[in-house]
Amino acid sequence: MKQLPFLARLDATDTAQLKILCEQLLDRKPLSGAKGFGVSDEIAVLIAAQACLLVLKLDLALYDDLSAIIVFPDAFGVRQQHVDEAGVVHEWDEELAGEAVEQGGAVVLSWHDVALQQVPGATHNIVIHEFAHKIDMGRGAANGCPPCLPVLHEPALLNDWAAVFSAAYQDFCAQVDQMEERLPPDFDPDRAEDAKLYEQLAASLPLDPYASRDPAEFFAVASEAFFVDPEPLAEGYPQVYRKLTAYYRQNPLDRGRCGQ
Ligand SMILES: [Zn+2]
Repeated sequence: MKQLPFLARLDATDTAQLKILCEQLLDRKPLSGAKGFGVSDEIAVLIAAQACLLVLKLDLALYDDLSAIIVFPDAFGVRQQHVDEAGVVHEWDEELAGEAVEQGGAVVLSWHDVALQQVPGATHNIVIHEFAHKIDMGRGAANGCPPCLPVLHEPALLNDWAAVFSAAYQDFCAQVDQMEERLPPDFDPDRAEDAKLYEQLAASLPLDPYASRDPAEFFAVASEAFFVDPEPLAEGYPQVYRKLTAYYRQNPLDRGRCGQ
């Protein structure tokens, strides 16, 4: 776990608490491999530790809706469905690195993709992303507004949550639109040169462009950034950063940058 700077920066008390939560999570929720993937104890602890970081100062009850954690060796295919404005149902297969299934469903992860992010300096984290969705799903379908815990959260926390997040979301979508206008007309993400250009342009944004997909993704991507790479988020959207600090009851920026 020490290879993950955002876990290595926790103080001794928090590390001890994280350990307890990991044991409880692995005790309560089945974690298994799919497609022949063998989940070692080390992998189980690594995934559980990142899942528990989100609820370190909250309550594991936020994962009551989680049925299991399933780990595939690599990206897995999922049948997606979308009903457009005309009522036409569109279906397609999508390869995913992670998925959080709502209404008592599992968190499904691709180990190949998780492992790529288990290095110092990584700015993405699928485990944190999917578990943020799972917390968000505690009030039904994910919408970017997670449930409050009456004992731990100020009652006013959610009052202006939607206003703060939707202003940031709108601004971010506009920034992504502006970025995309700078791409060549024949832009092809599968072409190395274009992919590099996209990466360079996206790096100037406070969050990964995927956050512009919808408000639920904005919350999951912002949560991911909050724990793993908080500086650009805190600078770009200080109000969102403050809300997440109040929600998760942690301030990753205060933990310093030792080890990274
Ligand atoms: Zn997502």
